[in-house]
Amino acid sequence: MALADIGVYGLGVMGASLARNFARNKNHVAVYNYTADLQENFKNLYSTEADFIYAKSAEDFVAKLSRPRCIVIMVTAGDATDAVIAELSPLLEPGDILIDCGNSHPGATARREAALGEKNLFFMGVGVSGGQQGALWGPSIMPGGSDEAYARVGPMLESIAAKAPDGTPCCVHVGPGGAGHLVKTVHNGIEYADMQLITEAYDLLKTGLDADGDQLARIFEEWNRGELESYLIEITATVLAHKDCETGADFVNVIDDAAGQKGTGKWTVQLALDSAAPVSVIGAATFVRGISGEVAQRQAVWEAFDSNQPCLDVDTWNGLTGDEARAAFVSDVRQALYASKIIAYAQGFDQIALSSAENEWSVDLGAVAGLWRAGCIIRARFLDRIMEAYERAPGLALLITDSYFADALRGCEAAWRRVVAAGVVTGIAVPAFSAALSYFDAMRTHRLPTALIQAQRDFFGAHSYRRVDKPGVYHVRWEQQGRPEDRLS
Ligand code: NDP
Repeated sequence: MALADIGVYGLGVMGASLARNFARNKNHVAVYNYTADLQENFKNLYSTEADFIYAKSAEDFVAKLSRPRCIVIMVTAGDATDAVIAELSPLLEPGDILIDCGNSHPGATARREAALGEKNLFFMGVGVSGGQQGALWGPSIMPGGSDEAYARVGPMLESIAAKAPDGTPCCVHVGPGGAGHLVKTVHNGIEYADMQLITEAYDLLKTGLDADGDQLARIFEEWNRGELESYLIEITATVLAHKDCETGADFVNVIDDAAGQKGTGKWTVQLALDSAAPVSVIGAATFVRGISGEVAQRQAVWEAFDSNQPCLDVDTWNGLTGDEARAAFVSDVRQALYASKIIAYAQGFDQIALSSAENEWSVDLGAVAGLWRAGCIIRARFLDRIMEAYERAPGLALLITDSYFADALRGCEAAWRRVVAAGVVTGIAVPAFSAALSYFDAMRTHRLPTALIQAQRDFFGAHSYRRVDKPGVYHVRWEQQGRPEDRLS
């Protein structure tokens, strides 16, 4: 029997779909799962789809792969990934390539690459987005690893990737080491932000218009025909229109409001703090999931403050009344959402840029925008614009300084402020909208009040400061009469 081009280890939701996708795209695939059940299940369901090679053991799996071997590991991220690497690596030969497509932490990927490199094995950390359907029909793929490993594996990954509207595969070698998994982690952080921003828009619209699911769904459908066009807006319209099978009520109204998380939002924020990347919108979105899960605390606060649902009356809005006011309100919320979304993406791209500089990865930000255009959860029309912005100016200081995005923010600014103000005044929580606006305000402020923080730090901790009028580092001897200033360097 001919040896396989690629092996897929792990036949859960994602592994099974990736294996089938590789096979559909003319790659000869060997499959293996450490428990027999999933392997049997895969065989029963999909053996007619392609000429899969089924392995009986890890040794058998490795023996059935052509050299140098390319093995996709698609297992639960963390200890399971290490267990699979420990099982396979003694069976491999120099030049073989392990490709971790799970949602691994970029630090773990760097550690694994270094350890396997000592055995002359290649290790690639590859981000994959798009869920089960994406994995099957075309995910967005974010490969990290050496040029040599990518030269061998790239064509196979590109064959299964989603295709952007211009036909380009949504798979670009983003950089060495943990670059692929960093980009995937930030992708997920942006996904958290996007979902939270949409949720705040939904809350404002629902409260302000006193609208039901069908009315709200129509608004999101309409928005999906404009600059907000994206997968998440599209599925929001579908979800809002859906009725609960049992009660007939709007489906979203029968769902427990404690939002789950698997941890990639938290990783994004942790990694951002390590790189001093101010991802305040992603942070706000991640913390809201935490708030939603603090069920007992919320109940106690709700009772202590005898809270009622906030009331937002938009029958008068921005000098208008009646239907005109309501339409203007909807338009304002759309603009606030768009502006906040631009900020969330700008923060995410800034984080990738900072991390790339720190690790000397040379990640091409335009290429990253390009590979998110299809297949992944945050696919959106405006990623074309982001790609174009970085193509125009690869060294762009921050996405919002690009003329297209700067104009968009200027155009939305007044509406954005009205919406955030309405949330604050009426008590509707808008943490991501307001974090985005505050970030914008802070970034565009010529002189921040943080000089006072420097003075306070120097006062209590002798942390020193720089002056605006002359070079050097200074400290005031606060405890001494006259508080003399010393130049430290
Ligand atoms: P599943 O739970 O469906 O599958 C997990 C797989 O890991 C199974 O094949 C399981 O085998 C295997 N596994 C678990 N523990 C071990 C172990 N100790 N040794 C060997 N194999 C083990 O998860 P998914 O397919 O959803 O996720 C797989 C990876 O893909 C994860 O890293 C996830 O974060 C990532 N991912 C998931 C996405 C999604 O939408 N689901 C999207 C993008 C990435 P068994 O069942 O036999 O124990």
